[in-house]
Amino acid sequence: MSIQIADRLTKIKPSPTLSIAAKAKEMKAQGADVIGLGAGEPDFDTPLFVKEAAKKAIDEGQTKYTPVGGTNELKDAVIEKFKRDNGLTYTRDEVIVGTGGKQNLYNALQATVNPGDEVIIPAPYWVSYPDMTFLAEGVPVIIQCSEENRFKLTAEQLEAAITDKTKWLILNSPSNPTGEVYTKEEIKSITDVVLKHEHVSILVDDMYEHLIYNDEKFWTPAQVQPKLKDRILTTNGVSKAYSMTGWRIGFAGGPAHLIKAMTKLQGQSTSNPSSISQAAALKALTGDQSFMKPWKEAFKTRRDMVVEMLNECEGLSCLKPEGAFYVYPSCEGCIGKTTPEGKTIETDEDFVTYLLEAEGVAAVHGAAFGLSPYFRISYATDEESLKDACGRIKRACAALNGEAKTKAA
Ligand code: GLU
Repeated sequence: MSIQIADRLTKIKPSPTLSIAAKAKEMKAQGADVIGLGAGEPDFDTPLFVKEAAKKAIDEGQTKYTPVGGTNELKDAVIEKFKRDNGLTYTRDEVIVGTGGKQNLYNALQATVNPGDEVIIPAPYWVSYPDMTFLAEGVPVIIQCSEENRFKLTAEQLEAAITDKTKWLILNSPSNPTGEVYTKEEIKSITDVVLKHEHVSILVDDMYEHLIYNDEKFWTPAQVQPKLKDRILTTNGVSKAYSMTGWRIGFAGGPAHLIKAMTKLQGQSTSNPSSISQAAALKALTGDQSFMKPWKEAFKTRRDMVVEMLNECEGLSCLKPEGAFYVYPSCEGCIGKTTPEGKTIETDEDFVTYLLEAEGVAAVHGAAFGLSPYFRISYATDEESLKDACGRIKRACAALNGEAKTKAA
């Protein structure tokens, strides 16, 4: 008899963002003319001073186990970062370093969710939140956030979703996949609701903190509502802002008992995150941050171009978000039309499949993020490719026949 896979694995699916990015890469390697806009990964190289720090760490022999939750030096840099950027004060036993932002979120849910506990997840959401909840035997409670409210959760929606079983609300701003940023007032209205319900905590994902393109200041819930600090885990990492996706370093700040539980779990699973990556992250957090400015300018220029070009496509409409490196256009005006091959576009998944097959553009369908009919484009790629990709999308949309199902056509 072959090895049987556990039942819990039937509840989850492979990460669609990672799968689509891998598929585009593979097609390209085989010689196909594909532009990958699926991956949420900056195209910039990791800053040189960060890479140098990693090389130095290797040469100096920093190649052994470190404390499970991160070196004291890196923890101190994380503490300093929270103070400098967010006005939050933590001690060493209130912070943890993990293998990417993903591990901290995963461990937090594993460490706290009992079977049947509910986790409120505003949609569109990052693809891994519901599946991580399932793996912790929790119940994802999905709230659909409308385009009219720029895909953001309202206090009323939250209030209506809270039950006796609610454990967490997951909040992510700037958002993956929409790029939208919550204002201080919006965060305040949400934290006011949470404040009233003592059994509810907030799992905050601030991974895109530094990627905001207007004068709007970044706000995180623990800063906006200090009274909730003991009921908030603030997670963040170096992946996006420092273009360090492959190094796998995320960090989090929260109440000591939760950090202790997460550390216990980490000690029985992966142990410490890579010692070399920790040395690199230490340099990233404490070094000269000025490299970020030109990166942000490049992202802003790309965003403006992509939004403008997408809005010229027949059947698409796209908001201009303030952060991250994603846009989340509606393809409602293409649903119901038929491709030149005679296939009807019934869903956003059909639409992105058509884009890939007809024009070699890889994007992620909205259903993967819990809100249709939309799709996500990552503009963390060079301007020329983006221009080419948007031109192809325009051509694909123009080639569709018939009428859309809705008046949005
Ligand atoms: N967070 C990125 C994305 O959404 C990287 C892939 C992943 O881990 O989902 O594309």
